Amino acid sequence: MALELVTIPCRTDNYAYLVHDAASGQTAVIDVPDAAPVLAALKSRGWQLSDILITHHHDDHISGVESLRAATGAMVLGAAADAHRLPPLDYALTEAASFAIGTEKVRVIDVPGHTVGHIAFHFPESRLAFTADSLMSGGCGRLFEGTAAQMWQSLQKLAALPPDTLICSGHEYTASNLRFAATLEPGNPALISRIERVAAARAAGLPTVPVDLQTELDTNPFLRAGLPAIKAAVGLPDADDAMVFAEIRARKDRF
Ligand code: ZN
Ligand code: FE
Repeated sequence: MALELVTIPCRTDNYAYLVHDAASGQTAVIDVPDAAPVLAALKSRGWQLSDILITHHHDDHISGVESLRAATGAMVLGAAADAHRLPPLDYALTEAASFAIGTEKVRVIDVPGHTVGHIAFHFPESRLAFTADSLMSGGCGRLFEGTAAQMWQSLQKLAALPPDTLICSGHEYTASNLRFAATLEPGNPALISRIERVAAARAAGLPTVPVDLQTELDTNPFLRAGLPAIKAAVGLPDADDAMVFAEIRARKDRF
């Protein structure tokens, strides 16, 4: 049975997520910008936290980890490659690693680019992928540590997941990401209708995440760098995909 998903707004524009297995009672949180909203979400549902999954070392994704660990006794899992700059890990993960929440096997995917040790968590049965600041809703993370080629590779891995996978990313940046996307594809009907849906959701105070991968494939310019229309839009009709991606990323940095 699919895990239950809870989206928890934290800080100004961060998200934490809970996944819960009803049969075993096992509950994991993915990233902890703040402990308090996570504890409140657990308490209101009567859930006991078993696991804390960390995507990357940035403060806005881990600052609540220690108080959450102290309050719940949950195990902390994160990338082995970043163990030196993450809170102490009970389990250091590599891409070869897998673990389970309830009976669902979770797959670790290396997605360097935003940071070099960034990982994503894929729950194939539940059709969930926790991508934080790699693939983001309508965009992708800034390249603080990795190269454009690395991020492009990372996004290719995520783009290959089943299209009905729900992408659970780290921030509420969708509206501005889509405004940028519209500079490249002003006539993309999927993009135009997504912009309307996102505006309505924000006006109602609702999160715009998670979003299914197919919608990302149809509207996120960072996943579309290989398309002739996008290459033409950035004036690089003959460039390879990774170069076009790099150009789009550079334009977004200036946007
Ligand atoms: Zn980050
Ligand atoms: Fe972040």
